[in-house]
Amino acid sequence: MKNAPQSINIDYLLEHLPGSYTTFDRENVIRAYDVAAVAHAGQKRASGEAYITHCVAVANILSEMLMQPEVVIAGLLHDTVEDTPLTLDDLSKQFGEEVAKLVNGVTKLDSLPRVSRTDRMSDEDEPEEETLTPEQISKHKRQLSNETIRKTILAMNDDVRVVLIKLADRLHNMRTLGYTKLEKQKRIAQETLDIYAQLANRLGIWQVKWELEDLAFRYVNPEKYKEIAERIAERRSVREEQISQIVQTLQTALSDVGVQAEVKGRPKHIYSIYKKMEQKGKTFDDVKDIRGVRLIVPDVPACYAALGIIHTRWRPIPNEFDDYIAAPKDNFYQSLHTAVMYEDGKPLEVQIRTPEMHQDAEYGIAAHWRYKEGSSRDAKYEQHILRLRSMMEWKEDVSDAQEFLESMKSDVFKERVYAFTPKGDAIDLPSGSTPIDFAYHVHTDIGHRCRGAKVDGKLVSLDYALKTGQNVVILTTKQGGPSRDWLNPNLGLVKTQRARAKIRAWFKKQDYEQNQNQGRQMLERELRRLGLGEINQETLARQFEYRNTDDLFVALGCGDLNISRVVSVIGEQTLDTPDSIETSRPSGIDTSGQTVAVRGLRGLLTPLAKCCNPAPGDPIIGYITRGRGASIHRQDCPNILRASVKEKERLVKVSWGDHENRYPVPIRIYAFDRQGLTSDISKLLDTEGANITNFAVHVDQDSPSADVAEFHLTIEVKSIEHLSRILSRIEAVSNVMEAQRLRGG
Ligand code: MN
Repeated sequence: MKNAPQSINIDYLLEHLPGSYTTFDRENVIRAYDVAAVAHAGQKRASGEAYITHCVAVANILSEMLMQPEVVIAGLLHDTVEDTPLTLDDLSKQFGEEVAKLVNGVTKLDSLPRVSRTDRMSDEDEPEEETLTPEQISKHKRQLSNETIRKTILAMNDDVRVVLIKLADRLHNMRTLGYTKLEKQKRIAQETLDIYAQLANRLGIWQVKWELEDLAFRYVNPEKYKEIAERIAERRSVREEQISQIVQTLQTALSDVGVQAEVKGRPKHIYSIYKKMEQKGKTFDDVKDIRGVRLIVPDVPACYAALGIIHTRWRPIPNEFDDYIAAPKDNFYQSLHTAVMYEDGKPLEVQIRTPEMHQDAEYGIAAHWRYKEGSSRDAKYEQHILRLRSMMEWKEDVSDAQEFLESMKSDVFKERVYAFTPKGDAIDLPSGSTPIDFAYHVHTDIGHRCRGAKVDGKLVSLDYALKTGQNVVILTTKQGGPSRDWLNPNLGLVKTQRARAKIRAWFKKQDYEQNQNQGRQMLERELRRLGLGEINQETLARQFEYRNTDDLFVALGCGDLNISRVVSVIGEQTLDTPDSIETSRPSGIDTSGQTVAVRGLRGLLTPLAKCCNPAPGDPIIGYITRGRGASIHRQDCPNILRASVKEKERLVKVSWGDHENRYPVPIRIYAFDRQGLTSDISKLLDTEGANITNFAVHVDQDSPSADVAEFHLTIEVKSIEHLSRILSRIEAVSNVMEAQRLRGG
């Protein structure tokens, strides 16, 4: 958002309220501040600041979005009902129904009891810590947090403004995340990147999206963040110089032919640079020269006029032109995008838009409330909401919060592709969608009977990812239904929740007994494959809240319960027992809560030194301590700098890592040998990020068929779910008959 000072107070908020606010509105804002300040008196943020600073900051973010007075007031009061003695009734009497409704909406999002009401930094619920293991606590937090997100997203259907308040809340929490416990930072940051930034993007609120991304990225990948930030800073003066010259040149070129334009350099966002590097496999040096400018011109004809002038003067770079005015992006973003070879021989990216498009681009759906009712913006807003609803048709079918989030990721947060039916109708799908997804979007019955597909005249496999502009013909059988394989997420045949919901409904209508048999077979096969034959199935059924194993089997058989969910629950338990996948679990060191994964020490959990309190991103060094492993110091820690020669011998190079441990697991694969089989398997393991530490081919002399090969591999996996996915993907490789974990290997 704008460059508000680090810690803002009520005076700042009042000075910067939208110009459209009346004196009456301003008085209400002051009154709300007074009420909130009294209610939160004595409560503190993790930063040590008074709690009210958070409320003012949230209100200020909403005011920068030019939201209505009720919303800014609700922002000030958003935590009162939950964390103070104030009730909704009080708010309704003092500030009216509308404000109370908004606060209620936000309160309902995390309506579970909290333990600690005063020392709360983020929107997390804290369970009783003493009675639970660290794993249980973190799992519990994840579940609560997932449930909050599910409710947040569902709130979009009632009043999108509730979601905007929640986003403002998260934004301020991210700005102050540095004060939170280390192990919490990464989880919250990852969730912000995966969900909240995506939600802001889907609602078109670019300002909030990029700030959330950059803030989160700092914690998720501290090393890369620091590297990019430093390199940007190195080049800042050169770049600013260049940009201001380019702006001047463009201004003159345009005004010479009578086009009025406001020209500005575009700020660089660290996360978007990172993504550009990742996606195109580029280094910082490849992207550092990409400079961007933005032109704001009075109307649409002026957009195209300006584009013409720029293309005549500088050579356009092929494939870089996009007309998002004629064809707006799926979050209703509009602009012309192009890139030209500038006179210094380096590329220049140009965006051209009207002031109205600019507002929409920065504030997305939040821009709606700035205009009078009945304007053309209303229709656009309605369209936006309708589209979101249609992407979430499945929402009633999914009550599990985890699955709900997965569905948001697969159906709503993805970019879109548009593929065509033989009749020429465009089908709007999330990217990655397959022919089966397409078939179900066209018609449920076509989905059920889908057996193959032609894309642009050519036969494709059913896991083919459709691209925009392609023509799709679905090949159907006269009768019959979907295959259970379609519901196996590891095979990638169906990517959308919408199609999955329809497939499940089909199986649910099938015979009870048939589903039960299928479900039992699925589970037993999976357990055998993972070498977990001794799992108590009764206990498992109860864990999923089924009365008995039969009900569990039926749920598996009709697709109500996904086999990979079962694996993930088993994984959480088996990792702690000796009979588990784990063979070399790192030994923890007592760290009184402050633990962090550090690379260079074979996954040791390592205490951070109290003398210098290193934070992710700081240059660090490890010091081998007597009997306690190693402690982590900042490289500039006085204790390290002062270390004697002898002590210096105990320093080890370390870097910030992630929490991922890997476990070596022996597996066995039976296959009819063919050319390229070994390389197909190793390629697959590579894309799965599983190292191979051992590889041998056994040829069984007594085997009836000489063509059968038996491979013995040891692979390094992250978890039992990871192993499960790898095994089913190996089994889908042609000629492979079976892939299994080896016991006791
Ligand atoms: Mn809050």
